[in-house]
Amino acid sequence: MIHGTTGLVAIVGSPIAQVQSPTNFNRWFQAQGLDLAMLPIDLQAEAIPALMSTLRGWNNLRGCVITVPYKQAVVPLLDEVSARARLLQSVNVIRRTAQGQLLGDNVDGEGFIKAAASHGFNPAGKRALLLGAGGAGAAIAYSLLSGGLAVLDIIDPDAARVAHLSSALGEAFGEAVLDAQVQHLATYDLVINASAVGMGDTGETPLPAEQLADLAPHTLVADVVTKPANTALLKLAKAKGCRVQAGPEMALAQMEDLGMFMGVMPEPMAAGANSD
Ligand code: NAD
Repeated sequence: MIHGTTGLVAIVGSPIAQVQSPTNFNRWFQAQGLDLAMLPIDLQAEAIPALMSTLRGWNNLRGCVITVPYKQAVVPLLDEVSARARLLQSVNVIRRTAQGQLLGDNVDGEGFIKAAASHGFNPAGKRALLLGAGGAGAAIAYSLLSGGLAVLDIIDPDAARVAHLSSALGEAFGEAVLDAQVQHLATYDLVINASAVGMGDTGETPLPAEQLADLAPHTLVADVVTKPANTALLKLAKAKGCRVQAGPEMALAQMEDLGMFMGVMPEPMAAGANSD
């Protein structure tokens, strides 16, 4: 129940009906007995600058999650953004300070790293293959390299995206970044699908089946796709004896970071919360 006293957060995107965050955050707020609520906001692109100005004056709104397609558009409209959000030119969460300042961060990659840690994966000194150099892929790459990853190979049919991301990451992290041809898959400790390939249960995989046949059991295979959770890539990886990490695991791990950044979720998060 929303009262006059209720503190608000929001999730802003378009479309918005498919997002799970309002259900998951509101369920968690209720379970904790907190007088907080999350609103879904489906906004037209032209209204984004006006919304950011409105947020500065919106006293009972603590912050908002930013989702597709506005993660890039909000970056220049904020008062401060974190170093990683600046490099990625992408913000997925905003905190409004008591003085009305808007601070931005991007915690997509941290959610991935936390989920991978729960599979015993520590990026330090490891080799990873990233399939997809878009928003999610860039955030994951940033967090893996921050965690000390030794080698990152990036594959994307959009060569300009690979070049741009490799150059930005190269400036920030130095020699760890390679945009080389894909190596034999058994040489990687981690293979990540950070593209939308496989979404909607198409049965498609981001690499051809004959290349995926080279997967070896020591490799952690991760997918960012949330629906279905068990993608064709993950099914194939399991059949090869690999550990697998599904898209919802990244989303769940990220919920805590989103909530903490907005100042509505303390650490540690209560067990049993689900996320988008
Ligand atoms: P995006 O459009 O910014 O990037 C996707 C990239 O994948 C594009 O550059 C595209 O060229 C590339 N691509 C397409 N086919 C490919 C292939 N076969 N191999 C390698 N790269 C390929 O999209 P995005 O915002 O990065 O989102 C990608 C996916 O991640 C979506 O399905 C989204 O729902 C999901 N996502 C999940 C989470 C989570 O928490 N699990 C978080 C963010 C995004």
